[in-house]
Amino acid sequence: MDQQVGFDSFALGGSEMREKMLPYGCQQIDDDDVAAVVDILRSAWLTQGPAIERFERDIADYSGAKHAVAFANGTAALHGACYAAGIGQGDEVITSPLTFVASSNCVLYCGGKPVFADIRPDTYNLDPQAVLEQITDKTKAIIPVDFSGQPAEMDAFSAIARDHGLVVIEDAAHSLGAEYGGRRTGSLADMTMFSFHPVKHITTGEGGIIVTDSAEYADRLRAFRSHGITRDPGQLLRNDGPWYYEMQSLGYNYRITDLQAALGSSQLKKLDTFVARRREIAAAYTGALAGVPGLQVPYQHPDTNSSWHLYVLRWKKDILPGGRDRAFDILRSLNIGVHVHYIPVYQQPYYQSIGYETTVCSHAEAYYSEALSLPIFPGMTDRDVQDVIDAVLETVNLLAI
Ligand SMILES: *Cc1c(COP(=O)(O)O)cnc(C)c1O
Repeated sequence: MDQQVGFDSFALGGSEMREKMLPYGCQQIDDDDVAAVVDILRSAWLTQGPAIERFERDIADYSGAKHAVAFANGTAALHGACYAAGIGQGDEVITSPLTFVASSNCVLYCGGKPVFADIRPDTYNLDPQAVLEQITDKTKAIIPVDFSGQPAEMDAFSAIARDHGLVVIEDAAHSLGAEYGGRRTGSLADMTMFSFHPVKHITTGEGGIIVTDSAEYADRLRAFRSHGITRDPGQLLRNDGPWYYEMQSLGYNYRITDLQAALGSSQLKKLDTFVARRREIAAAYTGALAGVPGLQVPYQHPDTNSSWHLYVLRWKKDILPGGRDRAFDILRSLNIGVHVHYIPVYQQPYYQSIGYETTVCSHAEAYYSEALSLPIFPGMTDRDVQDVIDAVLETVNLLAI
């Protein structure tokens, strides 16, 4: 029988199919956020003003780090972190293949070589043992990624870094508000990056930040995001007068604006509520879907408290013929905006063109063939959550036929 027939006649939880696609992620903007941005529009500073320092202080305080340096986006922030860590020509940096391309592109920007180590098959985070196996005398840094919002094993990476003289840059784009061993992300690595893209936990439109306890890294990051220019009298090599500044290194214009920073500070006030709602939605999915034959719900390591940027379900082809690929089509046809995160980075055509193999990390590749991200964002109603659960169960029934 052609199983495409009759999708839109399914009764989903007794109701009609959703009229509009439920996205996998979506920002939550309220009147306070709008007012905060309007205030800046009416102020003297649209960029390089006081809202940026305020936002940096807010994020540093929240995450428990001493310094924060905001950037135009998370990718620029990662580029800055690699620069501050001194990554250059020939240096190797170990990261996860199961991530957005920015986590390793930042190494390429600096002339370094990304080295991919496999993920753990349970948490989907970079495996410390696999990292150890990739360390050479050229290795300079590790970039663990807190996949889906669950922090990576930061104590293990810190220990490896100490033993081998490496810098740890945590890609925490998914994990603002998450905890590891009772400590918040942002206090666990030498430098930690958060992203404020609209699908992430809080948004500034585009935006990113590095938090760190090191004043030296913070200085390098500030210079890097603004052309390598300093006006600090204590740092100038000479001083021609009050107008004088010096470009002392090659930086970029990677600055964030005050409009964005003010939005960020306003959004941050709601972060804990957003994360609590994400945790509720994840618990509802796991409650309804754990134990369904052919589905695998996300494993949570006891040391972590995820902030649930993504909720990933794996579909076992041997039990549910067609697996993830068919489930994706069916769920999309039911207006459930499922997604796949991520294609192993080294399989991207650009990485292939610079010499990476297609099969490198077997756990990441197995994951990629089965994974499907369900919608999860704080604005989802209970009805939305139930629609997703009903649609998944309906899909399971169809595949099992
Ligand atoms: C979103 C994201 C980034 C990059 O952030 P942008 O702000 O979009 O540049 C980096 N790494 C991961 C894992 C991400 O999800």
